Amino acid sequence: MKNETRLTHLETGQSKRRTVNPSLERASTLLHPTREALYEAAPNYGRMGLSVHRELEDAVGTLENAEHVKLTSNGLQACALAIAAPLKSGDHILFTDSIYGPTNRFCTRRLARMGISSTRFNPTLGEGLEALIQENTKAIMLESPGSLTFDISDTRAIVALAKTHNLITISDNTWGAGLLHKPLDLGVDISIQALTKYAVGHADAFGGAVMTNDTSLFEQITNCGQDWGISLAPEDAYTALRGLRTLPVRLKQHEATGYALADWISAREEIAYVLHPGRSDHPEHALWQRDFSGANGLFGAVMAETSTEKLDAFLEALNIFGMGFSWGGYESLIIPCCDQLRRLPDDRIHDRSGPLLRIHAGLEHIDDLIADLVQAFAAMAAA
Ligand SMILES: *Cc1c(COP(=O)(O)O)cnc(C)c1O
Repeated sequence: MKNETRLTHLETGQSKRRTVNPSLERASTLLHPTREALYEAAPNYGRMGLSVHRELEDAVGTLENAEHVKLTSNGLQACALAIAAPLKSGDHILFTDSIYGPTNRFCTRRLARMGISSTRFNPTLGEGLEALIQENTKAIMLESPGSLTFDISDTRAIVALAKTHNLITISDNTWGAGLLHKPLDLGVDISIQALTKYAVGHADAFGGAVMTNDTSLFEQITNCGQDWGISLAPEDAYTALRGLRTLPVRLKQHEATGYALADWISAREEIAYVLHPGRSDHPEHALWQRDFSGANGLFGAVMAETSTEKLDAFLEALNIFGMGFSWGGYESLIIPCCDQLRRLPDDRIHDRSGPLLRIHAGLEHIDDLIADLVQAFAAMAAA
């Protein structure tokens, strides 16, 4: 054969060796031996996912006790898919007001253009939620703890209410990471996760998962995923699967460092109070104890009244803590959240004295993290 032909028909050397991990197939095209297989094989095209995807679906499904898993290219896409799949023009959805910002934007901007209306509710509203259910309400979307505010929903009560009104419940379980909280076990219809966070665990890939035990809902999710061309890149699927192997040991360390940091920082005069659902001073701590088996490394801290100059001096003096979006990686992060909080319709956190910080406890040693905070608070005092 000539060079051009040889280059396109190299032996791929399909190995019979047994490796610990699945092989990473990078493929759009799958070759089929017969006309029948071309159309009938599953998968018959790379977008449907390959070996790594099947193992990742299996792993995520195991954690969440989910029979059906649809992988997506990131967490936001998982939220959008789970919400849009069962809804149609004319429907209405209720969603918690402290939900992840881009999910909020999807509901208010994209769904509205699709003719689907939405109403936000305070997740601690309790029985008042029933009054918000309309004739055309089809679904309730939760995220517990809520992004930034860390409020815990009474998922069991909301599921019970939803069932009496024939509504679908969806829960964003990214904080629970599939280990600390099991929405499907509590009767939620669809659980989603941004695998980008603790599953990937190293801040170097994206991924999302939509999970359910309801066969007809899964058909709607599959169809919507097909229509939108939703897929997950094989490298990202591999990275998420690799991360999941060590998720339980990593989470224990994030949890321990998170508690230690929350304890230490709550005693500082620069801090008014912390928002950590695993602490007994959290307003919904009892609900959290009932429905969660542990905490991760993410929590909030409301500062005492301070100036923007002092806040900036504190943030810019940090050496070990980085300032950046996302969380769940091995590294510690702190971000100021006031700009994002503006989306909340009521003032339950606006009522605070100073800025709200979101803190992610990474895998560094606690002594070094505290030393970093000590010197940053000193820079703040000097500013
Ligand atoms: C980060 C996050 C998402 C979105 O995940 P991406 O992979 O960044 O798109 C969704 N929900 C929650 C709760 C998140 O924290």
